[in-house]
Amino acid sequence: MRLVRDGTPASPGIVIGPAYVLRWEIPRVPHGNVPAKEVEREIERFHQAREWAKRRIREIQRQTAQRLGSVEAKIFDPQILMLDDVDLIDGTVAYIRENHLSAARGFELRMLEFESEWRRAGHPMVMDRLNDLMDVELRVVRRLLGLPDPDLDLRGNGEKVILVARDLTPTLTVQLDRRAVLGIATDAGTRTSHSAILARALNLPAVVSLGDFSEQVRTGELMILDGRTGRVIAGPAEQEQAVYRERDVKVREWEQELLLLAHLDSVTPDRQPVTLRANIDLPTEADSARVHGAQGIGLFRTEFLVVGRSSMPEEEEQYRAYRQVAEVFPHHAVFIRTFDLGGDKFPLFLHMPPEENPFLGWRAIRVSLDLTDLFRTQLRAVLRASAHGDVRIMLPLINEVDEVRRTRKLLEEEEERLRAQGIAFNPGYKLGVMIETPAAVLIAPELAKYADFFSLGTNDLVQYTLAVDRGNARLARLYTPFHPSVVQLLHQTAEAGRAAGIEVSVCGELAANPLGVFLLLGLGITALSVGPASLTEVKKIIRSVPATDAREAVAEALQASTPAEVTAMLARGISRWLDLSLFSGRWNLSPVD
Ligand code: PEP
Ligand code: MG
Repeated sequence: MRLVRDGTPASPGIVIGPAYVLRWEIPRVPHGNVPAKEVEREIERFHQAREWAKRRIREIQRQTAQRLGSVEAKIFDPQILMLDDVDLIDGTVAYIRENHLSAARGFELRMLEFESEWRRAGHPMVMDRLNDLMDVELRVVRRLLGLPDPDLDLRGNGEKVILVARDLTPTLTVQLDRRAVLGIATDAGTRTSHSAILARALNLPAVVSLGDFSEQVRTGELMILDGRTGRVIAGPAEQEQAVYRERDVKVREWEQELLLLAHLDSVTPDRQPVTLRANIDLPTEADSARVHGAQGIGLFRTEFLVVGRSSMPEEEEQYRAYRQVAEVFPHHAVFIRTFDLGGDKFPLFLHMPPEENPFLGWRAIRVSLDLTDLFRTQLRAVLRASAHGDVRIMLPLINEVDEVRRTRKLLEEEEERLRAQGIAFNPGYKLGVMIETPAAVLIAPELAKYADFFSLGTNDLVQYTLAVDRGNARLARLYTPFHPSVVQLLHQTAEAGRAAGIEVSVCGELAANPLGVFLLLGLGITALSVGPASLTEVKKIIRSVPATDAREAVAEALQASTPAEVTAMLARGISRWLDLSLFSGRWNLSPVD
């Protein structure tokens, strides 16, 4: 039976092969008590299983560090910390001692309590961490029940498979063997969940957030997975397979062709230069950005340093991470965005109370300005990194001038302390703001008096302008950057930046969308920042489309009254220069639509 599902594209690539449905689930723990005289022995067994699990995770962590790098390996820190958590240990021991439960049962009950507490917190980022909890539970429970080590070995099955699962835990993902696994399809997960990050690092095509797909497909059933568009098809027709095979060849050729662009200038045919930088989430991605021709980093998201951690990151660790990226780009700017916590990203150590509307709540600069210890440490680390390159500080979700003023004051105090300690930094560093709310756009001329640059965060700007949640799949049709209101706000920001003589760049997803690039060029925005995988595609557009043409089309689009009109005008304009069918992304869902 043919089944088509559209999920979230998490790692690019097209693969066709048999499904392997993996039930990576915690085994059923039998009921039953232990006799009083065996209670202490049961407690001892629990500690032994815990120690064994820690050793095993450390081993996987070491292998991960060798295969993928030390930052990726840190993903396992929370699991090790969990196994030493006093609440977890004491709670389990109490169950065993007071209720005479078996070690497996006592541990299972304590873990269930943890899980329900975390679920009640309800933050998507905490939900991502439930995977870590599951990994730990699975390992310890299996050990206590005398079951074999749960680690997966798909080698030896012969045929390569597409792994289908409800969700993938981090330890499982890193152990996947490229020689045995073609791709990954999961019911749950987000682009930022650990397994998605690891899939990208492993170059494994992946689609996540597929609903109940793993219930619908059987092991051995043929399927197609397109990690560029987020589509999976179980039981595809012969002809459909042929279409995707052909598309795969075309896409690979196209990618080869694009790679040749990496070191060509980013300039339009009518000689308008466009600065093309990269967005990264981890320091190790800076190399890939450089290889793909980035002229610096336009958005370095720093949340990897805090999310999923049980303690605040030290200044030294942060400094090393920022410096590492600055040194990859000795001749270009690196925009380090200060922590954008809240919304969908929360570190465990903040014990954040649940909020009704997290995206309208305690988020980004609001958190940083309240938690000044956390913020000062980060600012010091960035200042120190500024001694190693053109490091710029970028503030997320700025809504008013006072937030910039207060940050500047903190920076001045930290500069003073660094000077007193004789620690080097660049006193001429730049401080700028992200424009992510309509409020920021409307006061952009005021903000420009305090900021050295603007960077448009269109992912948030669209959601806050249209009152449409950026992560709500049901509203995806309404979440459009081509709504005339958004186009007007982009235009106003560009004008305010021009009037003040400061750079206006765009680091939201719009900058990686072909129609978006055309729109931004037409608005006179000449600095874009996109994910490393999109750099060459965007450069292809820049090198194909004359800026004068874009300006003409956009002058017309600025008069449009509906998103459909805006999109049609832009598509008409750009299609004179480019065939859009090969570009990746959601505006081009599938070759068989
Ligand atoms: C944005 O909002 O456009 C942006 C780049 O920031 P983030 O996606 O991290 O919120
Ligand atoms: Mg944002």
